[in-house]
Amino acid sequence: MTPIRGVLFDWGDTLFSPPDAGSVIVAAAAERGVQIEPTRARALWDELWSAGKTSEELAKGRDLSMLAHREVWTALFERAHAAVPGIASTLYERVMDPRAWIPYPDTASTLRALRSRGVKIGIVSNVPRDLRPIFAAHGLADLVDAFTHSFEVGAEKPDPAIFLRACEALGTKPGETLMVGDHPVADAGALKAGLRFHLLPPDGAADKPRGLDRVVAIVDASKS
Ligand SMILES: [Mg+2]
Repeated sequence: MTPIRGVLFDWGDTLFSPPDAGSVIVAAAAERGVQIEPTRARALWDELWSAGKTSEELAKGRDLSMLAHREVWTALFERAHAAVPGIASTLYERVMDPRAWIPYPDTASTLRALRSRGVKIGIVSNVPRDLRPIFAAHGLADLVDAFTHSFEVGAEKPDPAIFLRACEALGTKPGETLMVGDHPVADAGALKAGLRFHLLPPDGAADKPRGLDRVVAIVDASKS
């Protein structure tokens, strides 16, 4: 097997976890004089988040600019207006802002383990803004060799073009590069670009390890 020399990570739900949207909904509803049970709020968010991951939503170009991002997500969040009138823009601001997201407990240790093995590390994300300050805010910027953002490339995952750009940025060939992500369509686009791919299990709780140690094991196995 060709040894893996570079690993590309998705950002959201892979290295960073979102704010607790259920709590955000409960609070935002209360500000509007609407009472909603935490379990109902959670279910409401799960519906919205799942809807946001469909191929139909991915095709709307929401990660090509800040404006498109706000418009497409806010339109989707309006589905919650039946439960909490007018909550869409608040939800966007409090949940979708990358500054509100935090690394999983095993994010830093995994990046360090790869770095110590001499593996190049890249981020490839469908995102409408620069993620470098987000990594810097959590002391992780030095562990990443290259960031490839959809809004800069003008292509979004699963378009093979964005993965090829990310490989170029790392200086690794697609065949010796592993893409790691949580989305079975968007992130799996890496396979069409000739990369290897590891799909994470569905995202769990923010305070639980994401299972990223598996990535280190895959890299080690590729060298034996
Ligand atoms: Mg993701």
